[in-house]
Amino acid sequence: MSQPHLQPLVASRPPIETSLFDFFKVGPGPSSSHTIGPMKAGYDFLERCRALPENTLAQAASLRVELLGSLSATGVGHGTNTAVLAGLLGSKPETCSPEVLPSLSRNPDARHEVSVGGKRLRVGLADIVFGPVLHDAPYSNTLRASLRDANDNALFEMEYYSVGGGFIQWKGWTPPERGKPVYPYGTMRELRAQLARTGLTLHELILENETAITGMSRPAIFEQLEDIMDAMYDSVRRGLAATGKLPGTLGVWRKAGGLLDRAKQLPFTVDRFLAKLNAYAFAVSEENASGGVIVTAPTCGAAGVMPALLYAMRNDMNIGGRALREGVLASAAVGYLAKHNAGIAGAEVGCQGEVGVAASMGAAMLTHARGNAVEVVENAAEIALEHHLGLTCDPVGGYVQIPCIERNAVGAVKAYNASLVATCEERQHHMVTLDAVIRAMGETGREMNSKYKETSEGGLAVSIVEC
Ligand code: SF4
Repeated sequence: MSQPHLQPLVASRPPIETSLFDFFKVGPGPSSSHTIGPMKAGYDFLERCRALPENTLAQAASLRVELLGSLSATGVGHGTNTAVLAGLLGSKPETCSPEVLPSLSRNPDARHEVSVGGKRLRVGLADIVFGPVLHDAPYSNTLRASLRDANDNALFEMEYYSVGGGFIQWKGWTPPERGKPVYPYGTMRELRAQLARTGLTLHELILENETAITGMSRPAIFEQLEDIMDAMYDSVRRGLAATGKLPGTLGVWRKAGGLLDRAKQLPFTVDRFLAKLNAYAFAVSEENASGGVIVTAPTCGAAGVMPALLYAMRNDMNIGGRALREGVLASAAVGYLAKHNAGIAGAEVGCQGEVGVAASMGAAMLTHARGNAVEVVENAAEIALEHHLGLTCDPVGGYVQIPCIERNAVGAVKAYNASLVATCEERQHHMVTLDAVIRAMGETGREMNSKYKETSEGGLAVSIVEC
């Protein structure tokens, strides 16, 4: 419902202009920053090379990409080199078949032909090199891509940054021109003020802003959002049906199907529900770990939390389709606030920004879908994030498996419990705001030693090897 007679409040800092479909992206796992972002960068570089003048392309002999920082430290386990190669060969995350990445990694010595303008170049995994972990670029997840001549001189170069959630930027990047939100906000406090002023519900305000930012009609937004939700349900179903070991050297077995079978036999209703929620989160996270197609919510590593809750809300709690959609819209507000004011990448703020934010979004989704006031939704989101503060990112062997898969299940249950606490407490007695906990997450993340930010150089990644 539009409120054209009201003058929107002006946000105190640049307002959030993220679109739902920037945020929830369908693509291959296992990592939004280490797989989806790098694949996008590879594809972007290919397109830019194709647009170069003919006399430059006439000298082109090879393509090369250097991975730096966390992309170098954990790139093998995350399949970053394979993702970049797929992008250079013309694959885009949203349309690439689930078979592309596994088939490239099964043939590590293969060289593939790609047409760049009138030129046909050959490129393979050997052209994607792992550079220094410590570097001077402004963002940890950095890639340097170059088109080179026969003497190995660079003809054209780009420096890309994979900034989390599958978003990429590059040296000299400026935000794209797009519509401005009709109800601008940059913090939860400002969002609350907009809701109070306009009388809109949280999901209505997110929809109004989405229309203004993207120019999409409401039916088009609903259709695309349903596609995103269907992709989430599909990832649960595929993960529950799959068996065997996950890729990589850790030898981790898929557990989701077995967890669900045993969950159904548990005698107590509450145990059955929570055990099923665990199974759903395992299912998506195992799909993600195997390079399967998932939805970033907010990232690939944390992709299990939201779909697990959504699937349980639909199938076990009998929440209707409209309420589910409205819950997802409410969850987006929480994700936007976290991204805007702190960060959502493990390499930037640790796992508090991935599974912590996913749990916060999931708590908001469930609480909003059950018809609670925005203050209760905020409290639920706050509780879920508060109890992930300080959580480090230390994937064992660089694979998004241990601790990531179990962590998604624990995060989903924590989100469910945060919603219970928020809906059962006296809301006026709640002490901590969502803005405060997001600020705390940002500060904690900035001060966190880089060992604990997706480099696999500290924490569980080291102790599991040493014990
Ligand atoms: S530990 Fe958390 S942040 Fe790190 S890769 Fe795993 S899920 Fe992502």
